[in-house]
Formats: sequence, structure tokens, C-alpha cells
Amino acid sequence: MTRRTLLELASLGTAAAVASAAELPFTLPKLPYAFDALEPYIDAATMQIHHDKHHQAYVDNLNKAVGADAALSRMSVDELLQHLDTVPAAIRTQVRNHGGGHANHSLFWQTLCPAAKSGKPAGRLAAALERSFGGQEKFEDRLQAASMGVFGSGWAWLSVDPGKNLVPDSVPNQDSPLLAGRRPLLGIDVWEHAYYLKYQNRRADYLKAILKVIHWDFVSARFEELAK
Ligand code: MN
Repeated sequence: MTRRTLLELASLGTAAAVASAAELPFTLPKLPYAFDALEPYIDAATMQIHHDKHHQAYVDNLNKAVGADAALSRMSVDELLQHLDTVPAAIRTQVRNHGGGHANHSLFWQTLCPAAKSGKPAGRLAAALERSFGGQEKFEDRLQAASMGVFGSGWAWLSVDPGKNLVPDSVPNQDSPLLAGRRPLLGIDVWEHAYYLKYQNRRADYLKAILKVIHWDFVSARFEELAK
């Protein structure tokens, strides 16, 4: 991953956020498609604010939390979350929230794609969805129900446990499945910032829409890796 230098940040006008480190440990990944690529299901304005403002804020706040600690700065965000108990208590909540926000969104962007490329679960993932849920459709019903059941802000996740089983659950805030020793595979962001501009209070409509733009090739390939 490339690191953003002080100079680049200064040119973006955010140098005030920078401590004394020459490089920041965490950077915002580029969106792997255009802001309007998920239209009409997810609108361009939502994508732009979600990525450029919300995700950037998680990155900035994570840098603020760990930037002064050389050892923590060398860890990946996944490692920080997997070993949260080793993070100093004074910054543990910031790492959980903003590190979680950075990790969750970094994966989230990759699991979405234009509807025309969405495809179907393949290979081992297709078999595992069949085994665990009775197929893709029943899994999607379960994911929608978990998403609807999130009270306030949070995520619904499908993750992989150490025994390589698929585990569905929902979490509050920006908690990551990594905190529970699982590897996240596919998550649905049900914070209002993910859908309110287009769908307002109609979370169910947003959920129906986002299932049209799941990048199943990516999710299937990720499962092959995680289930090795
Ligand atoms: Mn979000």
C-alpha cells in the first residue's frame, strides 16, 4: 500500500491533521470504479460522500490515534483489530471505531461492482452457501433480515470462522468481524450515510438495491483464499 507523504497532504490542505511523522501509516484506498458506476442502485453523490468524506475521516482519525506510536504504525489495520487487546487502553476505542471503519469500508468498496458485472457466487462459495443456507437466495434473505435488524448504525456481515465455516451476523457501529477472530467476506453497511440521500428511511429498498451490485467474482475469490 502506498503511503501519503506530508507534502501531498499539505497540498490537500489537511496538513494540520498530521503529527510529526514523515509518513502516515494509513491512507484512503482509491475507489475501484467511478462514483456513478453503481447507478441507479447506489447513487453517485452517496458514493462520493461515503468514500471521500466518511471513509477519509476514519483514516484520518485512525492516523491521529496511532500515528505517534511507531510499533502500532507498522501494523496493518487488520492486525490492529485482530490484536486490539494489545493496543494501549487510552486509544483502544478510537482504534476499534476508526480502524474498524477503515477496514470495513476498504473491503466494502471491493465487494461492489456495476450491476452488469455482478454475476453469481461461484466455486467453493456457491457450495458453502448451499450447505450453510440452502443457496444464494436464502442467504440473501438472511442477510437482508440481519441488515434490517441492526438498530441504529452498524453492519450485517458474512464472515469466515477459523474452522472455515460461513458465519452470518450483525454488529453495531464500525465493529469488524476481525474483533471476534473471524475474517470478513461480505458486509452490508447499514449506517444511514450509506443510503439516506437516495432512500431516506427506506432501508429495505436500499438492501434490495445493493444486492444487485455485489461483486460475486471478488467475493468468491476471497472465499477461496480464506477457506484454504
Ligand atoms: Mn459507511
